[in-house]
Amino acid sequence: MLQGSCLCGSVRYEVQGEIGPSVHCHCVQCRKASGASVTTNASVAASDFRFVEGEADVGEFESSPGNIRCFCTKCGSPLIKRTADPSKLRLRLGTLDSDPKTEPAAHIFLRSKAPWTVITDDLPQHD
Ligand SMILES: [Zn+2]
Ligand SMILES: [Zn+2]
Repeated sequence: MLQGSCLCGSVRYEVQGEIGPSVHCHCVQCRKASGASVTTNASVAASDFRFVEGEADVGEFESSPGNIRCFCTKCGSPLIKRTADPSKLRLRLGTLDSDPKTEPAAHIFLRSKAPWTVITDDLPQHD
């Protein structure tokens, strides 16, 4: 069981079971949503994820058709993204309080990488 929370602690969640492979996403939407050069995300089964506290404080923003970014409305932490596939969620690993015991497998959306981001690891890079 993994646990996570937003910056202010109003929203807490749990993930049962395994999380999917994680990636560093450089897409412009993740950059804008997080304010960081990269966001580290992994897929989780929607049935494995639940908010345990503060679900009423979770806001939603549809950043592109079918992609709904869920965040804490008090502190702004990005938490999950819902996609057109209701069986899966994208989890923002930066909000985990537990160690998922997996390491990112790749960089993705390099075509929208911030020009000032320097990648210093040897992970595979995908446009
Ligand atoms: Zn918060
Ligand atoms: Zn992204």
